[in-house]
Amino acid sequence: MLMKISEFFRNLPPKKCTDCGKEIEEQHECYGNKCNDCLGVIHHH
Ligand SMILES: [Zn+2]
Repeated sequence: MLMKISEFFRNLPPKKCTDCGKEIEEQHECYGNKCNDCLGVIHHH
């Protein structure tokens, strides 16, 4: 069962930007669904 869990995470697809679909690298948690490019366009504070 424990092995199943590790496989589950390995099979997870990388995060993708909800705006452009680009893969997202490590980001601030609050911006987890958008890439740097899209965040740069909309710079809420
Ligand atoms: Zn984007």
